[in-house]
This record gives sequence, C-alpha cells and structure tokens, in this order.
Amino acid sequence: MKIRYVISIALLLPWILVQTVSAQLQSPAEYLGYELGDRYTPHHKVMDYARHVAENSDRAILDVYGETYENRELVHLVVTSPGNHQNLEEIRTNNLKLTGLMDGEPTDMRKAIVWLSYNIHGNETSSSEAAMSTLYQLTDPGNREAAGWLENTVVVVDPMINPDGRERYVNWFRGIAGSEYDPKVESREHDEPWPGGRSNHYYFDLNRDWAWQTQQESQARAVIYKEWMPHVHVDFHEQGYNSPYYFAPAAEPFHEAITDWQREFQTTIGENHTSYFDEEGWLYFTKQRFDLFYPSYGDTWPTFNGAIGMTYEQAGGSVGGAAVLTEDGDTLTLKDRLTHHTVTGISTVEVTSQSADRVVSEFETHFNNAVENPSGQYKSFVVEADNDPDKIYDLLTFLDNQQIRYGRAGDSGRSEGYNYITGETERFNYEDDDIIISAYQPNSQLARVFFEPDPALSDSLTYDITAWEAHYRFGLTGYATERRIDPEVEVSANDFWSSNYTGVERPYAYIAEWSSMHDARFLAEITKMGVGSRFSTVPFTMDGNEYKRGTLVITRAGNRALGDRFDEIVRDAATKHGRSLHGAASGYVQDGADFGSSDVAFIEKPEVAVFLGEGTSSLAAGEVWHFFDQQLNYPATLFHTHQFSRTDLTDYNTIVMPSGYYSDMLNDSGRSKLTDWVRSGGKLIAIDNAVSRLSGMDDFQISTKSIVEDEDEAAETDLRLYDQRSREYAMNTTPGSIFRTTLDQSHPLAFGFESDYYSLKTDASAFEYLSSGWNVGTIRDDAHMSGFAGQNAKQNLEGSLNFGVQSLGSGDVIYMVDNPLFRGFWENGKLLMVNALFFVGQ
Ligand SMILES: [Zn+2]
Repeated sequence: MKIRYVISIALLLPWILVQTVSAQLQSPAEYLGYELGDRYTPHHKVMDYARHVAENSDRAILDVYGETYENRELVHLVVTSPGNHQNLEEIRTNNLKLTGLMDGEPTDMRKAIVWLSYNIHGNETSSSEAAMSTLYQLTDPGNREAAGWLENTVVVVDPMINPDGRERYVNWFRGIAGSEYDPKVESREHDEPWPGGRSNHYYFDLNRDWAWQTQQESQARAVIYKEWMPHVHVDFHEQGYNSPYYFAPAAEPFHEAITDWQREFQTTIGENHTSYFDEEGWLYFTKQRFDLFYPSYGDTWPTFNGAIGMTYEQAGGSVGGAAVLTEDGDTLTLKDRLTHHTVTGISTVEVTSQSADRVVSEFETHFNNAVENPSGQYKSFVVEADNDPDKIYDLLTFLDNQQIRYGRAGDSGRSEGYNYITGETERFNYEDDDIIISAYQPNSQLARVFFEPDPALSDSLTYDITAWEAHYRFGLTGYATERRIDPEVEVSANDFWSSNYTGVERPYAYIAEWSSMHDARFLAEITKMGVGSRFSTVPFTMDGNEYKRGTLVITRAGNRALGDRFDEIVRDAATKHGRSLHGAASGYVQDGADFGSSDVAFIEKPEVAVFLGEGTSSLAAGEVWHFFDQQLNYPATLFHTHQFSRTDLTDYNTIVMPSGYYSDMLNDSGRSKLTDWVRSGGKLIAIDNAVSRLSGMDDFQISTKSIVEDEDEAAETDLRLYDQRSREYAMNTTPGSIFRTTLDQSHPLAFGFESDYYSLKTDASAFEYLSSGWNVGTIRDDAHMSGFAGQNAKQNLEGSLNFGVQSLGSGDVIYMVDNPLFRGFWENGKLLMVNALFFVGQ
C-alpha cells in the first residue's frame, strides 16, 4: 500500500476527472493558494480549511468544542464513511456501552476509533499543517484506499489543540522572516523569544495537563474525549532539529497498569510506519527517550483510558523555523516535517483499519477485565469521611471529570491497608460514611494510577515527575487495601458543599473557617471589595464552637465606611463560594484572644507585583499568573524583569518571584534595591529556583546544603562505568517525588494545615535550616513517601528546609523551596501561597 504523502500537482492529475464530477473538495494547496510548507498557515486559515472539508466532503463533519483563553476556536472533525455517518450516534454510544461507562447493550455496529491530536505544543508547528494534508487524504474522493479504511474506522481529527501558543509562534516568525528563509541555525529566525509558543495563554504546557485539566483547553477536550473514548490516540510533536523521527513503541519505563495488548499494538503500528520510512530512507528511532509513566501526557492519559496512546516526534520545533541546516549537512524544511507527520498519521489509520475487529474486541476485553479482574496490588481506596469537606469536594469533582466511580462504604468494617499518612501497612477501621473508590470499575486503570501509593517504575530513568497520588495532592487521609471493599451508598461532590449561616443577624463580627482555596477565594473577593479582615493567630472558643488558628474574624469595626454594604458583601461572597459564616454578637471569646487583641491580626491588603520574563522560567511565571488571575481571582501586577531597575516599588507591599535565576534583574544595584524594599516593610515570596538564586546573597539567610560523599563512595564514583552515567546521575536527583514536610502549625504560613504537609519535590536542591528565621516546613528523617528519589538526594534532603520565613528590617522574606503552584495541580499546596500573601508578616 502506498501512501500519498506529498500533495503535488503530479499526484493530483489522475484525480481531476473524479473531483470535477463528485465534489468541490479542494486540496490544501488549491484552497490556500500555496503549497503546504511554503509558509505557516495561521489558525483562522486552518479553521477555514477544516470547515471547507466538512462542507464539501460526505466523509467529514466538524464541531466546535470550546475556545481558548484568547477566544480562538477549538474544533474537531469526525471522518468516516458516509454510511457510518448515518449511524454515527449508534457507533459512538455502542463504544461507550462496550466500556461500561454507558448503560445498555451495544448493537453489532462496531468500528475502530482513531484520534489524531495536532499541535499541542504551539511552536511544534508542522503538525497543524500535517493535519490539513491528512484531512485531505482521508476525504479526497479519489482516494479509494482511504475510503476503504473509513468503512470500518472512525477518525477524529483535532487539527490544533493549542491555537494561542501556535499563533504566538507563527505571528512572531512571520514578523521576522525575510523574503527568503535563512536556514543558518544561528540566525534570529531560529531563536524564539521568551516565553515561546510551546505553551498556552498562561504559559502552561498543555501536554502535562491532560489528566489534571487545570486549563480551559484541556477541560473542553476531556469532555469530547470521554464522549468518544477512542481506541488509538496519537499526539503529534516535534523535538530537536537534528533528531530522527520518533514513533511507538515507547521507551521504558512503562507504567505497570499498561496491558500486554497496549504494548503489542504499539509495536504493530510502529512496524507499519517503518515500511514507509525505509522506502524513503528517512531516519527514525523507537523504544527510547519517550516513556509512558507520568499520567498527564497525550500518550499516557489516553492509555490509562484504555486506548493505544502514542507520541510521534518529528525533528524541528521552534529552532526548525521554515528551513534549517542540520548537523549532517541536509536542510530540514517545514515541508519535510509535515510530510513525515502526514505519513505516520495515515499509516496509523491504515494499520488500525487492518486490525479493526481485533482493536475493538481488545478494547472491550480491557474494560471487562477492569470491571471483573482489575490489575494492581490494591483493590480499594479509602478516603476518610472526617477529612475537610472542601478537600473531599475537590477530590470528588476531579473523579467526576475522570469518570471514576465512588461512593460511601455504607457499612463499617475492619481491614488491613496502606496508610498514606504513616506510609505503613496496618489494621484500620473504616466507617460507613467513608468514601470508597473500588478498582472494580470501567476506569480501573485510571483509578489505580491516581491512587496507587507508590507506582512501580520499571526503570528509574524518566524525564518527568514520578509521584502524584491523590490523597497527597488534595490533602486527605485514607488507606489503600488489597481487599475488595465496594461502595454501597451514593454520594456526590455537592454533598460536601454547604453554605449556612448561624448566629445573630447584625453581628459584631463574622467568623469564617480557614482550610482551603475556597476560603481563600472568599477572602480574596471581600478584600477586593474593600472589606478589611482579621485572622486569629491563636485557637479560640466562641458560642460553644472551637476555632483553629487562621480563622477569619471580619469585624464591623474597621469597615464602618462601607455602611450596610459590609454585611451584603460578606454574605454574598460566602454564598457564592459555599462558605459557612457565624455571626458573633460580641468580641469577647471564652478561650483564646478577644477580637480586639493583637493576637487577632489585621490583614493589610496585599498589593502584589510579580516579576517575570527573561531570567525566569516561563512555566513557573505562568503558574503564578494563572494562580492570581484564574484560581484566586485577586489582582497582581506583572512586570518584566528588565523593568525592575526603573519600577517604583513603593506602591507594592508584596513581590512574588517565580522560579528563575534573575541574572540581570539581580545585579548589584538590583540586589540593593530589593533588600532596601524588604527592609522598609516589603514582603518577598521567592519560589523554587528563585530561592537558589537568593542563597548566599548578602542579607538573605538561605544557604544550600550539598551532598557529602564519604571517601569510599568517592573512590567508587571515580571508577564509574561510562554506560552507567545516566543511572549514576539518578542517585543524586529526584525527578519529582513526594516528601512529608513537618509544619510548625503555630506559624501563620502553616495555618489551615495539619501537622504534616505532603509536598511534591521536583528537584533535589536542599537548603540548611534558617539560623534565626522560622523553619516552618522542614524535611525530617524517613520523609520520602512516593516516587523515585536517588539515595544521595534522599539523604541530603533529610534535615533540610522546605518552607521558611526570615525577617529583614521591617519586612519578611518567604522561601518556598518546593513550588506549591507546580503545574497548577498540587491542590493542597496552594494554601501555603495564600497564607504567605495574606497572613505572614501581619
Ligand atoms: Zn511537543
């Protein structure tokens, strides 16, 4: 079978006759007026062509499934035979019935479903061009082979997952390219400026967000994905411009939840591609570099949803420009890149169609096994009912989005289980209202991946985080059991959402508890509206209720200027954010500090400046931006690092430094400007690498702790083997694992938390305890809970600072060694950021 991979006039000639009689469908070149690859096609033109195909082919339909933060359309096309289009809803629902996610008996209308996802990384630009040529090859009336494949196969095409990022790249490139492309890699057209087009509007890497769905694009896509549940999913990417093409089978480590069939069919698909690549003499590699472990990629998340999930990687990326001279003396063009991606896309459809019956029946078997005989050591996961309701609400909302089922135990009992908090397997009692997630359900594989305490790595070398367990992520206690416990009573997220009011009608003060981001959003909203709030730094008892440190005390005093609007603002915000309020008639408390005491601190309104741009990680900067703009909904003014020297900082009482090295910003004069500002009362929040940058600088107490090797080890290291170099490096690192962090609960930075916080550590940097500051969060002995951490790294992290506060003059410096905003998904960590913002230094 020959695939037409170049849309050239010569190849089109034999089809002209057919085309004129059957349809008005045009090739991309005919429609756009230039050959694909001659220039970049902007988003709106890709959408135009996709619509043209849907309107002029009886094999394709198009749907808008969402829009980006910058209001660009997200669309997908469903491509199959005209006959299948007549029965499309039956085909789709049959497939869901096969999985057990939809009730009912499927008819025998069974078709293979292939999903092709293009351009999730905006500056890996060839793939949306390839989407157009692939669409044309599949719908071209003269293409009888494709017509044959589409008899038993449905192809879903998402031509551009990340339009905002792609437009950022394409607009930049078009703006700086001359009449001839310059293939010399040192020229500016191969050097994309910060933040680059890889990420979306908020600089999030959408290919780390498939499972967590923190971004609008991912949320919208997950909905339609779950409506189809494809059998094969391909995520098209680009890599370094000198690399050969990469396709499946993937590299180790594979997550253990991946089944034999999922491994086997990847290899079948890869072998089909090799015949085309061999024929053309194109270089490729398989089985290396791209592993299947972290569950939030475009290959793993579909895999854990039962599909054959794969990543294809073409050389190019932003360095590729429109044409680039490669190391071996060839010139790699945009046309080459889109051609290769077209070949693998079409070859995927071909090989799936050839095995369509097997693909569907294996998919069915996969879900039958999930329900009847799930894989994995643990068969049920318990979340204790006495956890904070907000945190249970957040977990259940997440499970709903993943279509993972859960319920209440309905009965109490005794079992053995792995305690997530102690890390020990022990006997425990579960109660009838505890939440149970059973492994015996259609999405068993996903449930296993999200709840397994310590997923087994078949190889320690992975290039991403290796831990993400949900109890740690949401801040919940519970157990994993090898025994099957089934939930017997229905429960929903909304059962944990209540907004009630107790106390007097026109109170002396409103009291609101403090434990979650929902509380934080409430405080952010009333603060924005001009309400001044206080928080208790000591526990207290009032009207028979006990309140913890951090409880908000919103007194009428200090808010008199708002008049009656004070009550309206506070109560409306509480309803909106699902907060319960207590109206206190008096400022006198039974135990603890009265509301007029200095132990009930007034919250100075945060006026926030964030420095980002050159010298900072765009991903980390985006996490801070997204946190303020979309999660907390509280204003922060963003500055470029190069504006620092001329920014008047007197209007700001808080500066946030996202992870970065701030090379230019913190030159000699920058450093003294920053310390002067802190000394005069400013609050500096430094995250991740920003902490490393401050380490060792005058006035900043933070200092790095380095790995001490004993002499024997050092001698052994000298005799290391060359081919073990990667593994040896792994000894000293952690690519992302979970460490217990012991909190000083009496410090405002830790208010609202339990005594332990389970932190996602994304690198092995370790810091000494502060000698005269507050070591609020520290890593003690045996703190490693989940994920891979090298032996040396683990040792060095024991006895290190994780979260600390130092006074400097009248101001404060907050060190966050771990970034609680990492990828926006570590839900339980976000309150640390809020505490730093509103509570520390008051
Ligand atoms: Zn990519």
